[in-house]
Amino acid sequence: MSTRGFLLIVSSPSGAGKTTLTRRLLREHDTIDFSVSYTTRPQRPGERDGVDYHFIDNARFDRMVEDGEFAEWFVVHGNRYGTAKAPIEASLAAGRDMIFDVDFQGARALAGAWPADSLRVFILPPDLATLASRLRSRATDAADVIERRLRKAIEELGHFGEYDHLIVNAELEPAYQVLRAVYLTRRYGDVVRPDVALPLPALAAARDANTASDPAAHARRLIATAG
Ligand code: 5GP
Repeated sequence: MSTRGFLLIVSSPSGAGKTTLTRRLLREHDTIDFSVSYTTRPQRPGERDGVDYHFIDNARFDRMVEDGEFAEWFVVHGNRYGTAKAPIEASLAAGRDMIFDVDFQGARALAGAWPADSLRVFILPPDLATLASRLRSRATDAADVIERRLRKAIEELGHFGEYDHLIVNAELEPAYQVLRAVYLTRRYGDVVRPDVALPLPALAAARDANTASDPAAHARRLIATAG
């Protein structure tokens, strides 16, 4: 059966554990490609050029904008980040899915450009103290950068209503199981398929149990706490 791929767009405030979750999903599913964004922000220790991001200078970013190479681009935390169009079309046409780690602005733009082929997932932290301590424990960023990221995180939280699924990342394993269920049921459907060796109804039940746990109420509480 030929399947057109789809865009799995994942956003979260930084420090909510999105990278860990999405990297594991990628590692365990060879039907997904990662959209390697372009950015003008400096490379952090441990990051690989061309794998985590394409690290480029302002002049090259300007040229890519002029040449219409981006599906979307925005300024996030004072640096520019953009998603190239061509790899998306290539993955979808090959029946592969693509995962995106973008902020709410990027998520909105991509879902606007591929409305029928997009699924938006938002990862929520268990509470704001955890978020702040996860940001601070990233010794790679300076103190003012961390404060800026915390403010941006709270702003980002306000956009939870634009997403199809909300996942609270209180513990990694259950959060991952929900993300996996959301992904697999979008790709293969909810019902038993003779050609797919996956417990699709059970995965659909896990996905629906997450929705029934009312993660939106959790998001509203987080925002209320931030004042
Ligand atoms: P970081 O610098 O911590 O890797 O990412 C900062 C923020 O930029 C994150 O919220 C991440 O999701 C977002 N981001 C990364 N790549 C893109 C992109 O191509 N487009 C948009 N709009 N946001 C991005």
